[in-house]
Amino acid sequence: MKLIFERSVDGRGTDYIPEPDVEMTAPDFKPRERKLNLPQLSEVQVDRHYTELAGETRGVNGGFYPLGSCTMKYNPAMAEALAALPGFAGVHPLQEDESVQGCLEVMRLTEKCLAEITGMDAVTLQPAAGAHGEFTGLMLIKAWHVSRGETGRTKILVPDSAHGTNPASAAMAGFDVVNIPSDEKGCVDLEALRAAAGADTAGLMLTNPNTVGLFDANIADITRIVHEAGGLCYYDGANLNAVMGIVRPGDMGFDVVHVNLHKTFATPHGGGGPGSGPVGCKKFLAPFLPGWRVDEKDGALVRGEAKDRVGDVRSFGGNFLVVVKALAYILSIGREGVPATAANAVLNANYLMHLLKGAYPMAFDAVCMHEFVMTLEGLKEETGVSALDIAKALIDHGIHPPTMYFPLIVHEALMAEPTETETKETLEEAARAFLKVLEDAKREPEKAHLAPLTTRIRRPDEVKAARKPVIRHDLGA
Ligand SMILES: *Cc1c(COP(=O)(O)O)cnc(C)c1O
Repeated sequence: MKLIFERSVDGRGTDYIPEPDVEMTAPDFKPRERKLNLPQLSEVQVDRHYTELAGETRGVNGGFYPLGSCTMKYNPAMAEALAALPGFAGVHPLQEDESVQGCLEVMRLTEKCLAEITGMDAVTLQPAAGAHGEFTGLMLIKAWHVSRGETGRTKILVPDSAHGTNPASAAMAGFDVVNIPSDEKGCVDLEALRAAAGADTAGLMLTNPNTVGLFDANIADITRIVHEAGGLCYYDGANLNAVMGIVRPGDMGFDVVHVNLHKTFATPHGGGGPGSGPVGCKKFLAPFLPGWRVDEKDGALVRGEAKDRVGDVRSFGGNFLVVVKALAYILSIGREGVPATAANAVLNANYLMHLLKGAYPMAFDAVCMHEFVMTLEGLKEETGVSALDIAKALIDHGIHPPTMYFPLIVHEALMAEPTETETKETLEEAARAFLKVLEDAKREPEKAHLAPLTTRIRRPDEVKAARKPVIRHDLGA
């Protein structure tokens, strides 16, 4: 496929934007010295270019997309339409409170819904992603310990199945990370946790269900052990899809939580965002929350002031349009829809796991939550075919690869998460493709290394793409 610049022909472009009819009076105004080098094409060429580009992408609109640990893939168009309304999309964060009453109401209501779903007392919408929420939550934990003079609490306990952002956020917030091993069932080893928790423990970070798709049934004991040692408990809410409306982090004993609106509440999370990672906390931590809460004054909504807070973690009120989408989604599915969504996500994952179980060894022999992990260690040893080969071969069947080589505690891992939106027929069709790919690989292992065979780019050098990305086209002079 040609780059848009390669299709450009001098003189073909049209200036749609007229010369300004007002004087440019900004101080130090310096007009551009050379004309901006934009590609020059006819409108239909531009249209075809972007249509072709869209066709190069494998997205949820094109087929089954079981990428695990990423939750919601199909996001209802209704939420996008509402977020695009000019009253939301056109506001400026520096407008007076009285001119943005609707937006403040959206924020207040979203905070309320998220507090109820997570079992927390107060919520900030400011953090821009899950990892950013983790960092914010850890700052709350730190601020609370410091406010009580407990400056010796320098350690954060993180299970070895945790998402990589957990230890990274803890380190960034200035804590030392203590790794807690998992037991043979894939859950937190209680003895190891008891041994690690102590006077230097600031807190624990945990996601439940965890990254191997299992609900840790010992959760009440886990949070109690940490609390008895004087630490606080942070809930990584990236897997909330499996339990929302059914069990609340606040009731499991957690003190702080983030929610990934771009994983659970109707915002696409490809292409680097924008996302949103609101943080909720229990009342005793609320004074430390960053940003402002929506308050009421003389019958109107206002941006209030917070005291003792950890400071802003992002400009203004966060990624507001993502918040609009989240609220639209929550209100559209309603009080019954929230737990029903979670139940369907879990049902779909278990159905797909059941269809694959005979052929694909599961990393853990248990009922899963919203995702499950397979291990192809045996296949690799016998045939040399890896999890990567299988993932690539699925592309030839119109299926986006599952998550590969995560979580790290499972070797040759493939993690699949169908989500609540897929039909029974789609799951069965997908299962047939998974089984066919495995059969083919066992029959012709050499060929399995060549997949995908149907795409224009086959196997890019992923290390080079990450370390030396070519993201600019050389336009010459
Ligand atoms: C995605 C994810 C995160 C990080 O969230 P971002 O919004 O990508 O920063 C943290 N923990 C788990 C378990 C996740 O799946």
